[in-house]
Amino acid sequence: MDELKKYLEDFTKEISQAKSLDELNRVKGKYVGRKGLLNRLFQQLAQLSPEERKNTGRKLNQLKQTMESMVKERMQQMQSSRTKIENAVDITLPGKKQWLGSYHPLLIMLDQIIAIFKSLGFRVETGPEIETEHYNFEALNMPEDHPARDEQDSFYLDSGYLLRTHTSPGQIRALQRLTPPFKVIIPGKCYRRDAFDASHSPVFHQVEGLVVADSISMGDLKGTIEVFVRRLFGPERKVRFRPSYFPFTEPSAEVDISCGICGGKGCQSCGYSGWLEIMGSGLVHPNVFRNAGCDPDKLRGFAFGMGVERIALLVFGIPDIRWFFENDIQFLDQFRIFR
Ligand SMILES: [Zn+2]
Repeated sequence: MDELKKYLEDFTKEISQAKSLDELNRVKGKYVGRKGLLNRLFQQLAQLSPEERKNTGRKLNQLKQTMESMVKERMQQMQSSRTKIENAVDITLPGKKQWLGSYHPLLIMLDQIIAIFKSLGFRVETGPEIETEHYNFEALNMPEDHPARDEQDSFYLDSGYLLRTHTSPGQIRALQRLTPPFKVIIPGKCYRRDAFDASHSPVFHQVEGLVVADSISMGDLKGTIEVFVRRLFGPERKVRFRPSYFPFTEPSAEVDISCGICGGKGCQSCGYSGWLEIMGSGLVHPNVFRNAGCDPDKLRGFAFGMGVERIALLVFGIPDIRWFFENDIQFLDQFRIFR
């Protein structure tokens, strides 16, 4: 009996010192396992007299039950303290970062372009993205046989409608709606059946500009564009007007700015010309005034149109237009500074 008492004392000490379930199971095996101490004692019962065997057997069974319930209790204790640790809040850990969105680079660019023209007295007008062939082409002096009207180039809808291929139909709508003199810009989406590659996208953004008064010259156009370029790209940039052709302006000019990378000396970015093309412009063609119901003998105007993607590529130094449309969070996140 003393021996049993000693076993219980040792057992109690050992399970209270057990620090893990593994250790606890080892103690359990040592005493009440199949090859444990108690089983060895049970085997020795055979050597005792029947009376002693009965008595000692009962004591051994009691001891076994006590030990088993102590193991169970200790096991529950360990599990509940482990759950407590797992559920505990570690207030020294850094907090979870809140995800903040950022403006899309094209929206940043549009906002900057619009802000510059607003400061020059322009107002913002809009036009529909679904246009009639009349507004998109004919009224802009592009008759039916004009090459830009090729079905391959435009997204045609039913019965004379199409997705506008440029923001220029906004010029006709502004002439019909507003009373001169006025200065407007018309920003918006345009659609063409172009491949989706590094420099083309089937949907893109333009900003159209139109200034109408009774007396307007190329000098007014040049002055306005020069102010715009220096505000957007920096005061050191030079502006060049290169004769060109557009059906809705006469005379027409492409606007180039000096390359910001080589400063005009010529590099890979500017095709070794020193110049980068940024927009088309010109004086409003008399036919455009006529088609909008205005008298070309009484009004003059200048117009320009630029691709927002093109400008954004130059301003941000991005090599591929597709990046604007792929919604890559890592790319977009770089524009957070413009918030
Ligand atoms: Zn260059």
